[in-house]
Amino acid sequence: MPRHRTILLMAMQNSLATTDNLCKRGYQLASRCTLCYQAQESKHHLFFACNYSTQVLQAIFTWQHIHRRPLSLNHEVRRLAMKSGKHWRKKLAKCALAVMVYYIWSERNTRIFQDICRSPYQLIYAIQNVIRIRLLALLDNVTSEEVISSLE
Ligand SMILES: [Zn+2]
Repeated sequence: MPRHRTILLMAMQNSLATTDNLCKRGYQLASRCTLCYQAQESKHHLFFACNYSTQVLQAIFTWQHIHRRPLSLNHEVRRLAMKSGKHWRKKLAKCALAVMVYYIWSERNTRIFQDICRSPYQLIYAIQNVIRIRLLALLDNVTSEEVISSLE
């Protein structure tokens, strides 16, 4: 989805309006992370060090049969660029990273601007649903049994 890709690119360029970036531009803001309230919000913290985000990312990684900890956005993007294997699996991995980043950013904004909080489990469920739908849209030549077995 273009909006997922846009947020991923902005996160990679560190151009999202995280509170640390806004403070660098002169805004006086409380810089505490709105997902965990335990650390200063930054790109790295928000997506890869926050307790909330880590719980979400780790669950999605495990669901995708990736049995390691998420490290950093740049590291994950580099890994995707070097990933070999079936074309649809590579696309699925790229889609999953973009969806995770988008939904974590969206959750942060929903908490700030609408005062609505979702649990990590609610976010995981929403991300899984989006990835399932995107995967079905990506596939042309793959049997549905192969797809279903990859998402179990
Ligand atoms: Zn946090």
